[in-house]
Amino acid sequence: MRRAVFLDRDNTLIYDPGFIHEPEKVRLLEGVVEGLKLLKEAGFLPVVISNQSGIGRGYFTEREFWAVNARLNKLLAPHGVQIEDFFFCPHRPDENCDCRKPSPRLVFEAARKWGIDISESFVIGDRDSDLMLAFNAGCRGGLIVGREPFKTFLDAARFIVGGGDEALLSDKDKA
Ligand SMILES: [Mg+2]
Ligand SMILES: [Zn+2]
Repeated sequence: MRRAVFLDRDNTLIYDPGFIHEPEKVRLLEGVVEGLKLLKEAGFLPVVISNQSGIGRGYFTEREFWAVNARLNKLLAPHGVQIEDFFFCPHRPDENCDCRKPSPRLVFEAARKWGIDISESFVIGDRDSDLMLAFNAGCRGGLIVGREPFKTFLDAARFIVGGGDEALLSDKDKA
């Protein structure tokens, strides 16, 4: 069984002004390359879990979603890191599907496909729904980038690689 980091994509790995779907607009956020390198060295499989309601709303197509993913991996390639897989919910919130985060369904799918031990895995995201995903799926922890004490993606990666001390995770919630 392997360990994974379940990664939010938009505003966690790449800058998203809102419903990003143009590959040429993809920009990696601060600390993402360095953080993914650290996680890779520590044996964590990087997997994206993403809500893409822009597809269900008709703002862009599934093909455009995949074009952004391809661009992301192309930007990462020179650094020797890649996102191994992408799982996404294409539905609008009002469709009440069972795959939209914080539903754990896509994490369960990823775990089945890749032989992942969820209890030894983490979520990194930029929203409360990402923390709830970590809780609902039964991950070791969930970390929010851009919120104390994780200023950048690299801070979150360092924390995970350093052992992901649960005491600090709960301290953060108390603060
Ligand atoms: Mg996000
Ligand atoms: Zn869905």
